Amino acid sequence: MSKTSNSRRVFMLHVACGGAALATSTAFAADPVSTEKLTEADPYAKSMGFRLDTTKVDKAKFPRHTAEQKCSTCQLFSGAPGAEWGPCSFFGGRLVNKDGWCRNFKVKKAA
Ligand code: SF4
Repeated sequence: MSKTSNSRRVFMLHVACGGAALATSTAFAADPVSTEKLTEADPYAKSMGFRLDTTKVDKAKFPRHTAEQKCSTCQLFSGAPGAEWGPCSFFGGRLVNKDGWCRNFKVKKAA
């Protein structure tokens, strides 16, 4: 085998290993994005009065709730503007509906 051929082989090996290492590090560096939708049946969600539709909140149980309070206007919601579902940091990044609500609602501060 010639010296040039051997150098080329070593170079290709380095490229292959570097690519694999980069792909691996990228996979571990990315933030975990949950694709799990929070349900009303979830025990913790239930204890927080979570509803998928803010208009269905129990007024007797949560007298300070208003119809304007919904996940899309909560500071813990990080869904894209107009998105139907988005992550809620309070529920570990699980997806909540933009029209949902729970008793931990915190009005989103103006940017
Ligand atoms: S904390 Fe906010 S975004 Fe999360 S479920 Fe409750 S109201 Fe919705």
